[in-house]
Amino acid sequence: MNDEVDSGTIRTIADLHLTSHEPLKTMSDGIFGFRLPLPFALNHVNLWLLSGTDGWTLIDTGIDDQPTRDFWSERLEAEIDNRPIERLVATHFHPDHMGLAGWLVEQTGAEFYATRTEWLLARALSHDTSEAFVETGRQFDHRAGLATDLVEARAQRGNLYRTRASAPPSQLLRLQEGDDLVVNGTAWRVLIGRGHAPEMISLYSAERGILIAADQVLQKISPNISVWPAEPYADPLADYIESLKSFRDLPETTLVLPSHGQPFEGLHARIDQLIHHHHERLERAIDAAGRGRTAVDIMPALFDRELDTHQLGFALGEALAHLNHLINLGHLTRNLDGGGVHQYAKA
Ligand SMILES: [Zn+2]
Repeated sequence: MNDEVDSGTIRTIADLHLTSHEPLKTMSDGIFGFRLPLPFALNHVNLWLLSGTDGWTLIDTGIDDQPTRDFWSERLEAEIDNRPIERLVATHFHPDHMGLAGWLVEQTGAEFYATRTEWLLARALSHDTSEAFVETGRQFDHRAGLATDLVEARAQRGNLYRTRASAPPSQLLRLQEGDDLVVNGTAWRVLIGRGHAPEMISLYSAERGILIAADQVLQKISPNISVWPAEPYADPLADYIESLKSFRDLPETTLVLPSHGQPFEGLHARIDQLIHHHHERLERAIDAAGRGRTAVDIMPALFDRELDTHQLGFALGEALAHLNHLINLGHLTRNLDGGGVHQYAKA
């Protein structure tokens, strides 16, 4: 849940800062990074620009809010180094990554690239104003053991996705695992990360030794792995750990450009730290469940800090990800009690 996970031996390679008028930071020849603010506890997202022959390939967009639109309007007017954005790649459907894709494509005429799953999910969520969406969330929260006033407060917010992301482009250039996106002669292999989002893009250049990691491997925090109301019995933690292990095949010397935190080296160590973090949380969840507890009861045992209401949703989703995984492994059972709340217990 964006928890800090001790990054021990990881070496920070560059320093990105939150000042919107700072020039682009060079990560490597023709590869630039910059940072946009987010109005959350996680206060920034990193974006990447790859220099092509006629224009830029932009990776991710920032959230759809006025400051971010203002930033882009200013930047686009001058173009960036007098060259247009010709391609936009959105790594996954989350608002900080794809939230402004529709608008940016309208402004620039850029080609839009994403995986089909992430694009469809963003399309669906950005258009969903149904009462069923809210009711599904209400039932999900109740089953997790949340108090009625909190269930209602969360239901009142409606579809939060729509407040942070506008509809993505209505047309897609689909990227799939193993595809090469060629920018100025450099081939970027599409690698797929699962669990944080269903089909998230990372881009790896063997020639350059660089991984544009999206949220798959982060420098300081653990990417949020959550169960959402639309798929209450999903096991995204299994997907995440499995796909994370596949990133261990990349060289240890890889320069990692993550969407949050700083660029770093030490990929294998970081992957091991993140996997260890989840195993430790799984142990805690088993102990906390004991002979029968709700997800809300178990949640505090997994997080070492106080949670505000915004973080509550992520924490609950992440607690459920660990519980669902433990059920699939046979370590826990889940039973609906007389009040319609799920009780988790050691198997
Ligand atoms: Zn992110």
